[in-house]
Amino acid sequence: MCGIVGYLGKNGAKDILLEGLRRLEYRGYDSAGIAVWENSKIVISRSVGPLDALIEKTTAELLVGTAGIGHTRWATHGDVTEKNAHPHRSSDGKIVLVHNGVIENFSAIGKFLSEKGFSLSSETDSEVLANLIAYHYAKEPERENCNRFLESVRRALLHVRGTYGIVVLCADCPQEMVGARNSSPLVLGIGNGEYFLASDVAGFISRTRDAIFLNDHELVHIRGDDFSILTLNRERIAAVRQAVDWDLSAVELNGYRHFMLKEIFEQPKSLANAMRGRFFADGSTAHFGGLQMSPRELRHIDRIILCGCGSAWCACLAAEYLIEKFARIPVEVEYASEFRYRNAPMERNTLVLIISQSGETLDTLAALREAQRKGFRVLAITNGVGSSIAREADGGIYQHAGPEIGVASTKSFTSQLCIAALLALHLGRLRDLSYEEGTAIAEALRRLPQQVQETLKLSDSIRSVAERYRNCRDMLFLGRQAMFPIALEGALKLKEVSYVHAEGYAAAEMKHGPIALISPDCPAFFLACDGLTLEKTISNIHEVRARGARTIAVVPGGGTFPETTADDIIAVPEAHPAVQPILAAIPVQLFAYHMGVLRGCNVDRPRNLAKSVTVE
Ligand code: GLU
Repeated sequence: MCGIVGYLGKNGAKDILLEGLRRLEYRGYDSAGIAVWENSKIVISRSVGPLDALIEKTTAELLVGTAGIGHTRWATHGDVTEKNAHPHRSSDGKIVLVHNGVIENFSAIGKFLSEKGFSLSSETDSEVLANLIAYHYAKEPERENCNRFLESVRRALLHVRGTYGIVVLCADCPQEMVGARNSSPLVLGIGNGEYFLASDVAGFISRTRDAIFLNDHELVHIRGDDFSILTLNRERIAAVRQAVDWDLSAVELNGYRHFMLKEIFEQPKSLANAMRGRFFADGSTAHFGGLQMSPRELRHIDRIILCGCGSAWCACLAAEYLIEKFARIPVEVEYASEFRYRNAPMERNTLVLIISQSGETLDTLAALREAQRKGFRVLAITNGVGSSIAREADGGIYQHAGPEIGVASTKSFTSQLCIAALLALHLGRLRDLSYEEGTAIAEALRRLPQQVQETLKLSDSIRSVAERYRNCRDMLFLGRQAMFPIALEGALKLKEVSYVHAEGYAAAEMKHGPIALISPDCPAFFLACDGLTLEKTISNIHEVRARGARTIAVVPGGGTFPETTADDIIAVPEAHPAVQPILAAIPVQLFAYHMGVLRGCNVDRPRNLAKSVTVE
């Protein structure tokens, strides 16, 4: 949630901060603000609404400063108003801060501070933290070998319960900036005589690829042209610099109208990247470099618990079908947010597998920590190189899908499905999956990028289908077996980007309840690509049509599906059951995209949503 940036260098800070915020806008966009050192003072400018409003407001301001901080907000505490927008300044004027996260004990700290003479002008938890730092700054004496500004941030954070990524300025220290994190990401970018801090590397990728990913409970102190990293216990850290391996074009539109469409069309490449170097030489299985588990250990897994949130949870469900079918290992799927508090009984040889695009989703990170606390081994599938989940997991698989800027996930979802298929193949071949069946799956996976390319050609015809349904208020998404998770993802996607109310169901479940909703105003979108249950799904379509509702069906090409069965038929290439769900997911994404655009919605930044949800 929310994007934060900081800059300290020799170039104009305003433009650098605004550019960084533009690239982080997917993280939050209800209001925005920057603070810049301008003629020996820290000047703050904030506005409600998208970043453009702030850009316009600051056109003629903040022209000379070369250091500053910025924020694009996803409100948790306090309405979306200018006074609640960040940066926040302490009431004594000494401290200015941007914050991502939630300070859970903000009321107690606020009460304490008001007794000490500090006053608050916003409803946010973040302003309390700015004042707490100011309180410690006022108390902290000048000492040799101890930086007063840094020390006041450190001391304040020792009293904070909750999550934070912060960047802080001090009115007495024009050449200094302090950042810190706990469960909200923060990355230091090291340029040529300049430093950047941002929630993710997208915030400074146009300026440097030299980055240090901070860990929880670490502070970074930038001072002139030097920096140091230390823990909350004042231990110095020798941080590892990493070269970020994606380039600027990955975070630009490159001629597409929206990031969502660009990312849907990037799927042949993101899927090829998910598989690159991961097929075993004999062509019958997959292998991974980062699982940190021997074949013997993998053979001894008795159960897998899959955890995720949102689309990643749908990917977990798809993975359950694949792993149980091909590897014959019992799998359970949990919402990460529920798993964390459920205290589920777990057998000894249980493996926990986490799926998170960003690698920063707080609920998922908490599930990972809970499983590790109990002594279970946790693997992660994530796109977030260097993310908290990637670093804390015992092993894992990177998606290599490139940055995903559209808030509704598309290419990261199919890449997770692809990795799940590779993993099912790997685990299956360690058990009873035959050489022939393994080879068939591997070959189907190799063909997949080309088949996805074919499927993308359906975009215009899917737009025509969407035109016929653009005014509907509700929609059901129905599928059986491995198509059920795709139906759930389809409903989620449509809700997210077009605000049409949609529900996903296992198709046979329809008659046990949701059929009551079926009417001419509530069409049904069928994912009819599961060969085993195709006839039964066709019966379900007839049941819906008999009640006057229009139907759309995604079917495998090749003519096995009777053409008159549904009102609108979208035929995708026929493929092995291990990869057919991926091919079925593409029309679902395109349908949601076109519905959103036709209904005038901002598909890249749907209302109320944010990518990388770093609050609980
Ligand atoms: N809790 C803070 C607020 O509501 C920060 C939220 C965010 O991460 O954007 O302002």
